[in-house]
Amino acid sequence: TDGLEFVMSIVFLNGSYMPMDEAKISPMDRGFLFGDGIYEVIPSYDGKLVGFAPHIERMDQGMDLIGIKFGYSQDEWRAVCENLIEKNGGGNLGIYLHVSRGTDSKRFHAYPEGVEATVFAFVFEIPAAPVADKAVAKAYKVSSTEDLRWKRCNIKSTALLGNVMHFQQGYESGNNEIILYNADGEMTEGSACNAYIVKDGVVITPPLDHQILPGITRLMLLDILAKDGSVKVEERIVTMDEVRNADEIWLTSSSKEIAPVVELDGQPVGDGQIGATWEKAQALYSAGKYNY
Ligand code: PMP
Repeated sequence: TDGLEFVMSIVFLNGSYMPMDEAKISPMDRGFLFGDGIYEVIPSYDGKLVGFAPHIERMDQGMDLIGIKFGYSQDEWRAVCENLIEKNGGGNLGIYLHVSRGTDSKRFHAYPEGVEATVFAFVFEIPAAPVADKAVAKAYKVSSTEDLRWKRCNIKSTALLGNVMHFQQGYESGNNEIILYNADGEMTEGSACNAYIVKDGVVITPPLDHQILPGITRLMLLDILAKDGSVKVEERIVTMDEVRNADEIWLTSSSKEIAPVVELDGQPVGDGQIGATWEKAQALYSAGKYNY
C-alpha cells in the first residue's frame, strides 16, 4: 500500500511518553489553527538512524527561519528517537518529530510572547530499504503538474496543504507521486520528495533554493556520489523537456531512499525499465547511508 501504517504506538508529547489515544493538545494550538510548525521524518532500520544529525540541523534551521524558540539539543532529540524505537518494538520506522509554536489563548496571527512550543513525536512503519537490484525494486509511476505551492518550499513546515493537494492529484490518477514544475517549465521537486533525471549517465537535479526542500536524502546521496566519483552529478535547472527526454528519473525521500520512475504522464521513461545508473546509485547509498 502507499499509506504508511501506524504502529500501535507509544508517542511523545511535551516531555512524556503515552499511548497515542491519550495524547491531547488544545484546539488553540497554532499547529492546529495555522499549520504553524516545523517537522522532520528520520528513518530508522532495526534501531539504526539514517542522517540523524543533518535532520536535526534542518529542523533547527526551520525553527530559526520562522522564529520558534525551542532548544532541544541533539542528545535530547536522540533520546526521544531511541526511546520511541524501543517502546514501539523497532523494525523499519519513520520517526516523526514536530514542534509547533504552541497554544495561545486567542486566535491572532502575530507570534505570541511567552507561549511554549508544543513538541510531539511518533513512529510509523516504513517499507524495508530498497535493495539495489532492478529485478526486485519498486518501479514508480508519476504524473506532472505546475507547482502551485508557496515560495518558501525550503522550510519544512507542517502547513502542507499545497503538497497534500498536489499529491492527491497524482494519487487520484493512479500514480505514486507527482512531479512539479514552475511557471518557466523547470522541474522543482515531487509533492513529497526531491527529483532527478539521468541523461547519458549524468545525474542532474535542481539547485537548492526557495522552490524545493533541501532533502536530507538528497544531501547524503550527492555527497556519497561525489566521494565515490564514478557517477557524475550536476546541480542545475532541469527543464520539463529534459525530464520528458531523460534516460532515467528518480525521486528521493527519507522513507523511499532512491525511487526509480518508469512512467511519466503515461509515457515510458527511457526504455521504460529501471535504469543501470539507479542501481549503481542505490547500491552506493545503501553502503554509505549510516555514515551521516
Ligand atoms: N521535498 C518534499 C516536498 C518533501 O516533503 C520531502 C520529504 N518527504 C523531501 C523533499 C525529501 O526530503 P528528505 O530526503 O529529507 O526526506
